[in-house]
Amino acid sequence: MKFETKAIHAGQEPDQSTGSVMTPIYQTSTYHQKSPGKHKGFEYSRTGNPTRSALERNIAALENGKHGLCFGSGLAAIDAIIKLLKPGDEVISTNDLYGGTYRIFDKVFENYGIKFHFVGMTSLSNVTKLINEKTKMIWVETPTNPTLNIADIESISKISKKNNLILVVDNTFATSYLQNPLDLGADIVMHSLTKYMGGHSDVVMGAAICNEDSLAEKLFFIQNSCGAVPGPMDCFLVLRGIKTLHIRMDRHCKNAEKIATFLKKHKKVNNVYWPGFKSHPNHEIAKKQMKNFGGMISFDLRENRHADAIKVVSSTKYFCLAESLGGVESLIGHPASMTHAAIPKKEREKTGVVDSLIRLSIGIENVDDLLKDLNQALKF
Ligand code: PLP
Repeated sequence: MKFETKAIHAGQEPDQSTGSVMTPIYQTSTYHQKSPGKHKGFEYSRTGNPTRSALERNIAALENGKHGLCFGSGLAAIDAIIKLLKPGDEVISTNDLYGGTYRIFDKVFENYGIKFHFVGMTSLSNVTKLINEKTKMIWVETPTNPTLNIADIESISKISKKNNLILVVDNTFATSYLQNPLDLGADIVMHSLTKYMGGHSDVVMGAAICNEDSLAEKLFFIQNSCGAVPGPMDCFLVLRGIKTLHIRMDRHCKNAEKIATFLKKHKKVNNVYWPGFKSHPNHEIAKKQMKNFGGMISFDLRENRHADAIKVVSSTKYFCLAESLGGVESLIGHPASMTHAAIPKKEREKTGVVDSLIRLSIGIENVDDLLKDLNQALKF
């Protein structure tokens, strides 16, 4: 089955009891048993729910994976994945990553005795030189949030396999449509389904997908034991959102290309971060491992003034100033004071998250309206 067909059909079939074409919202916490333990596959909705199961099968299929597990948020998925580790274990992670991921690593799991090393992964030697007998996991975000760096998943997976580590890839920015990390050697793919996969800014949810049965068993044990599961209504919304993922992503990418090109020529703009530029340092890797370059763009201003960036993000009409990304509507954000405020200034500036950095999530509106909007906002 090709991707577009999977997006619409995988994991779903007409409901057996009514013929309902759309997967029903099984709004129930529990299930009848004929005698103790004798049931139709479901006993309690933390453990399993038919609407959630349909979504879990669907996302597994989209990532060419065997097992999919959904969680109450992207961070709940991250939480479950890190719980595969034990005190004393070490993780090598991308240094340029979503602020909330940095925060759960640095402020929550460090307290439980897990050590995180944050490094730039565009150079593979940064990874290899940190590996020791305590290293258990490599955490890759690519493209990164917010400066759109690209890590070479296939090359990192070779290092990971050689050292018997678990390679996790946060595939939130690319989505399953543009990039399939399991095919490139990753062990676990993680998503914030809140973003492009759901696609309509109406749900918070996360996922982990893997091939190996033993990893899936451990993740399922954590999912059920810790209980951060999404509700059936939200699972229905994400299932519905995914049906148009490929069409939405094509438009996000097309609009982003035009806007990145416009920004690059603008006199008030300094750097434009978008992996589709030939001048992007990892453009060739992006071309190799992604179908297209995605709908996220970041840029900073020539004078690098915090106040100017605030003026820009506060004066757009169609770009809504808000946290998050990946919805049909365009969003604008100021990472230093919003999504990445949890990262110390000195740390964030090392990765380009300067005071004037602005992040755009390009929606699927008419691109001419979006260009006009940015043009007027940049007249400060
Ligand atoms: N990973 C990335 C790349 C993100 O951008 C986000 C949220 O912005 C997350 C993970 C966390 O996901 P959630 O907000 O669904 O918990």
